[in-house]
Amino acid sequence: MSANSALHIAVLPGDGIGPEVMAPALEILRKVEATTDLKFRFTEAEAGANHYKATGKSMPETTIRLCEEADAILLGACGLPSVRYPDNTEIAPQIELRMLFDLYAGVRPARLIPGVPSPIVGADTRGIDLVVIRESTEGLFASMGKGTVSHDEARETMLITRRTSERLFAFSFKLAERRTARGRSGGLACVDKANVFKAFAFFRGIFDEVAQRHPKVKADHLYIDACAAMLVKRPWDFDVLVTENMFGDILSDLTAGLIGGMGMAPSADIGDRYAVFQPCHGTAPDIMGQGKANPTAMILSVAMMLDWLAEKHGLEGAVEAGERIERAVDKVYADGIKPFEFGGSNGTADVTKAVLQAL
Ligand code: ATP
Repeated sequence: MSANSALHIAVLPGDGIGPEVMAPALEILRKVEATTDLKFRFTEAEAGANHYKATGKSMPETTIRLCEEADAILLGACGLPSVRYPDNTEIAPQIELRMLFDLYAGVRPARLIPGVPSPIVGADTRGIDLVVIRESTEGLFASMGKGTVSHDEARETMLITRRTSERLFAFSFKLAERRTARGRSGGLACVDKANVFKAFAFFRGIFDEVAQRHPKVKADHLYIDACAAMLVKRPWDFDVLVTENMFGDILSDLTAGLIGGMGMAPSADIGDRYAVFQPCHGTAPDIMGQGKANPTAMILSVAMMLDWLAEKHGLEGAVEAGERIERAVDKVYADGIKPFEFGGSNGTADVTKAVLQAL
């Protein structure tokens, strides 16, 4: 934390709707600043497809240095389908940051806010409140940029390490314990494909070892395929899920769909020292520049950032501020706001204004 006590936040708006949802998030933080003892210093930096188009790099060294120095990193969304590397993959500094800063725990909460329509029958009365923890530095993504392709075959290799898995599971049990203390008791499930792949049997074995050290949490296993079906049928039965990178990528989009859409799903990529907070969604080129992006996921990511900063620096006020943001978001949906994302007519500005008022 900086000497003058202002929390230094690296701000990477990115591409597409990234800057459109980042602006409301900063307005929310300014409002928090005006009503608490917390102080923020924002430094904006380049990253993403537009930067690559202009310079041939996904992000400059100065962005990486800024992220190293800042107390936390806020990211909008990066990458555009129309801008690609010569091997046809997209520009993804958000994935590079996870690798660079060892952000192994991708925390993706999916909470159905009362008033938001879920496609799942019964969810409005039974509720959905779960967290997917996606390992974010290895798994199938360890192969990023290293796969081999010939005329006749293509190969990518999945990597699971003991070091990362142990820290991932320790983090997951800690989070499950924290949720249990707040009244949830669904436990922690390891989601894998241990019946087919040795690497997943290894992953599961480490989960079981770490589980021994956390007897208060109900530890469980699920195969990814069965888990996907159960999430759609009975999402209210889940509390915390932990899984490999690629599985988590897919499952967390599924769980975002359960709670209204990508614009409702926040996330945090957390390591031992650094953390990046960003919505689960991408740059949504189909709606960019139209004022239709739902900023809720980005605003809730800011609440997650405050919670993380609170724990890291022992800032009571930041816990309270994060909770206030969540309550403000809940209030605007209870009052009937309906973003374009789920068939309404409220754009980015309407949602932002309503949350600011509720704060
Ligand atoms: P990525 O691969 O980078 O995660 P993606 O290609 O899977 O991105 P998104 O950019 O997340 O996809 O968009 C998926 C769909 O969800 C699109 O139809 C998009 O318009 C919609 N969407 C995403 N984010 C929002 C948002 N904040 N508000 C409204 N709609 C959104």
